[in-house]
Amino acid sequence: MAILEVKNISAGYGDLTAVSDLSFKVEEGELFALVGANGAGKSTLLKTIAGSIRAVNGSITFKGQDVTKDPDFKRSQDGIALVPEGRRLFHSLSVEENLLVGAGTNRKGPWNLKSVYGLLPILEKLKDRNSARLSGGEQQAVAIGRALMSNPDLILLDEVSLGLAPIIVEQIYTSFPDIRKQGLSIILVEQDLKRTLGVADRIGCMLEGHLLLEGTPANLTHQQITDAYFGHSVQSFDNAPSAGGAQ
Ligand code: ATP
Repeated sequence: MAILEVKNISAGYGDLTAVSDLSFKVEEGELFALVGANGAGKSTLLKTIAGSIRAVNGSITFKGQDVTKDPDFKRSQDGIALVPEGRRLFHSLSVEENLLVGAGTNRKGPWNLKSVYGLLPILEKLKDRNSARLSGGEQQAVAIGRALMSNPDLILLDEVSLGLAPIIVEQIYTSFPDIRKQGLSIILVEQDLKRTLGVADRIGCMLEGHLLLEGTPANLTHQQITDAYFGHSVQSFDNAPSAGGAQ
């Protein structure tokens, strides 16, 4: 069953339409990855799903309920958590205090300080440190931990590995199977195509606000994805050979 259904969504900033008439579904427990060049509209789409930007047209259905007109805090209480690009921590608060902000939804579930520290041990070591005094990777770990503390059903991860040391990216990706064991659905925006193909159940490729291509890593070729990424003409992807050789 689909946990999220986005139908004919358009959204943007003033006169600029960044997401245009876009539709897709995410199934329960699925990891759906969104790829696309800079400015394709991926972050705008995530913000529209989380409710920090209002859709101009279309509808968003979450767990069978129409949430299109709900504000972001209501969607967060309903179980949608966004880890935004740029992290957005409360810099006057410690790591642990930032994590506790996530728990403000009062949703029941497997995630609490103990389980988040178990998943990302670096956070326990840093729990009393002011979050302004963290490296980029440490801040990213706090942002993920804070989102988990809200015990979401759907987590939206916007370029969580951007600008991070490879070892921290590895730690974040290594934590995905444990996060997914809890039945969480994930939408992941990621620049690294090879990494994306390794973890995604399905991939959507965005170009200029449209979802140009959608499929599983097994039925999309690397060529089809890069064509969609850069806006070259896209061939049909039914019965396409495996993308196993994608770099
Ligand atoms: P990136 O990979 O660079 O983050 P993206 O695919 O996430 O790109 P968006 O950030 O959604 O793309 O941007 C889509 C379009 O909206 C771009 O043309 C961008 O310049 C514009 N845009 C993004 N944020 C704003 C904003 N706050 N105000 C005005 N325009 C914006």
